[in-house]
Amino acid sequence: MRGVTNTGNRGVEVRDFPDPHAGPGEAVVQIRAAGLCGSDLHSYRGATVTGLVNGHEPCGVIVELGAGSPPGLAIGDRVMVHHYAGCGVCETCALGYEQLCLRGNSVTYGGVTGHGANSEYMLVPSRTLVALPDELSFEEGAAVACGTGTAWNGLQKMDVSGRDTVVVFGQGPVGLSGTLCAKAMGARVIAVDVIPERLRLATELGADHVVDPSDGQAVEAIRDLTGGGASAGLETSGNAGARALVLRTLRPFGRACYVGLGNPNVAEIDFSNLILNVTTVYGSWTFSKAELIEIARFMVEAKVPLDRMFTHRWSLEQADEAFRTFDAGATGKCVFVLP
Ligand SMILES: [Zn+2]
Ligand SMILES: [Zn+2]
Repeated sequence: MRGVTNTGNRGVEVRDFPDPHAGPGEAVVQIRAAGLCGSDLHSYRGATVTGLVNGHEPCGVIVELGAGSPPGLAIGDRVMVHHYAGCGVCETCALGYEQLCLRGNSVTYGGVTGHGANSEYMLVPSRTLVALPDELSFEEGAAVACGTGTAWNGLQKMDVSGRDTVVVFGQGPVGLSGTLCAKAMGARVIAVDVIPERLRLATELGADHVVDPSDGQAVEAIRDLTGGGASAGLETSGNAGARALVLRTLRPFGRACYVGLGNPNVAEIDFSNLILNVTTVYGSWTFSKAELIEIARFMVEAKVPLDRMFTHRWSLEQADEAFRTFDAGATGKCVFVLP
């Protein structure tokens, strides 16, 4: 099969890999769509070469099912993948958060510790598969199973509703998803980014206001728009300046949720923002397998127009162009589409 692999320092190559076959408890998914996600850029830009297929947003159809797979699965099922596998039996794994395995032996299927999604076929533990609702396309399923679900879960942690004005920092794929989901939850949205194309897309997707913080006036602008500060803030960019800014744009009793990893991830925090403003802060790393099912159902029932956030579609053979374009930042959601 053909698959994409990192060659280090912003290089990718499409190579032949052996076709995978399902052993006991495993499934082979024929990939129909694989999303590009901000966290793929960390390994793309880095020097480490693992020789593994990259990408971690697979969506497709089951073509092989090993013995001992859950009886609710069948060949031909349309599926998303909760792309982690822990020990499978500890308390956190039992909750469906295998990425947080208490025994610490979690594998993430994204080209770092296991073969990822950007290939024709992908071998996964059968128990990580989640049914893709008929109403969602493979492309939407790929997004929901990582970046879009991450945004939804951050908003869910803050209990966002029609009573809120939410500031969404960063309008990349996760931030745009945050804008779409916060609107679907009934909130007003202020979208923040420094890239004009992204702000334009955020407006098209329903953001009530957009703010470019490059002029240093974002706090004042957001306080003006909200009569004293937003009630919730979702930080998706991983940018050090944005991380600090979130706390300064909230009104008293506001909630902030951090979902964007960056480099570096260590920064100074002015705790007076937290204490004197009585702020609640959450961290969130994707979602559980059960939450993935709930998120997909939400997208269907709330009729979230996820398809509108896709700006670029590529074949696997266009991987170099795909990663270069995505890395440049002026895109919405990008995805590999396979026949
Ligand atoms: Zn991701
Ligand atoms: Zn575990």
